[in-house]
Amino acid sequence: MTLKNLTVNQDRLWDSLMEMARIGPGVAGGNCRLALTDFDREGRDLFVRWCQDAGCSITVDKMGNIFARRPGSDPSLPPVATGSHLDTQPTGGKFDGVFGVLAGLEVIRTLNDHGIETAAPVEVSVWTNEEGSRFAPAMVASGVFAGVFDLDYGHSRADVDGKTIGEELERIGYLGEETPGEHPMKAFFEAHIEQGPILEAEEKTIGVVTGAQGQRWFEVTLTGSESHAGTTPMNRRKDALVAASKLVTAINEIALAHPPHAVTTVGMMQVSPNSRNTIPGSVFMTVDLRHPDDETLSQMESELRAACAGICDPVGVEAAIENIWCSPPIAFDTDCVAAVKKAAGAAGYGNMDIISGAGHDACYISRVAPTAMIFVPCEDGVSHNESESATPEDLAAGCNVLLHAMLERASA
Ligand SMILES: [Zn+2]
Repeated sequence: MTLKNLTVNQDRLWDSLMEMARIGPGVAGGNCRLALTDFDREGRDLFVRWCQDAGCSITVDKMGNIFARRPGSDPSLPPVATGSHLDTQPTGGKFDGVFGVLAGLEVIRTLNDHGIETAAPVEVSVWTNEEGSRFAPAMVASGVFAGVFDLDYGHSRADVDGKTIGEELERIGYLGEETPGEHPMKAFFEAHIEQGPILEAEEKTIGVVTGAQGQRWFEVTLTGSESHAGTTPMNRRKDALVAASKLVTAINEIALAHPPHAVTTVGMMQVSPNSRNTIPGSVFMTVDLRHPDDETLSQMESELRAACAGICDPVGVEAAIENIWCSPPIAFDTDCVAAVKKAAGAAGYGNMDIISGAGHDACYISRVAPTAMIFVPCEDGVSHNESESATPEDLAAGCNVLLHAMLERASA
């Protein structure tokens, strides 16, 4: 077998995924393996045992991030790394995150099978609390690693019972010694199910992820005036909910005016006083604008502000728009993206460039290491659901692309 034709073991990858899925079973065939619970510890222990059996050394940092390293021939080189997360949503699937971790393990097992030596070490990481469902925010430990949050902030995040990440890391035995971020990487790749419907619809096996879209979150408060639903003539009303309804439609139009990437959502609305025979005096609503290009995102924000003024001013409703959070678009490293594209093409997999709609650990890691991602299709684009499903063939294809992209970055 030449290096060029090297492929991973599809059945072994699948069997490992199914074995991991037995830990923290859900109620409908998926998983409930929340971050830093006993089930998470069991999953971590299994991963560590598998990596040690494959000859890896293990280090853990102070956020509980695990790094399993297969040595290279040149000890002066930082590792070419991959990884994702083992925690799940409360009603999560068997593949979100877990695929990226076990694909990394399968890369190492494949290199071992064929006695292949790389110049740079090859490493697989497990990032703590990616999902953010037990401890907010999401991706907190890769965020600490990348210097987005400090360690005290990371340790002090608490669940609904007041238990903190720091306490729970200590309890399950994963409070490591290494300072997060003091761990250079030559490159980082994350393989992940798409969690959306595009690859399936386009009949492509591999998504070459070029970046992640930017997000801007707003809170909008519209203030009109409350008055009697029976006695106030239509021309004398300042109905905040009527204005809000027009604004919801206008926000939807903003996305439709910037195809194909723009998405906009009003996901939450509170009407006051919320009484059936009083004209609504005020409405609070959230607005979520997303686009991969920052300039377009700014354009969408001005359209939001213009729509708001255009709807509210003529009817005497006051509008306050507060920008509460911004996450700029991310462009992944061009060399790493090229390595993914080349590996997919060489293997003959149908592939397309794609932009991640969701956040991933790779988004934070991209701030401190050259990074790219590999997507594979999942059935109907469904994720964060126990019915989440992917085929053994597609998962192996993603793992083969990961193998060859990593080999390319590890050889030089
Ligand atoms: Zn994930």
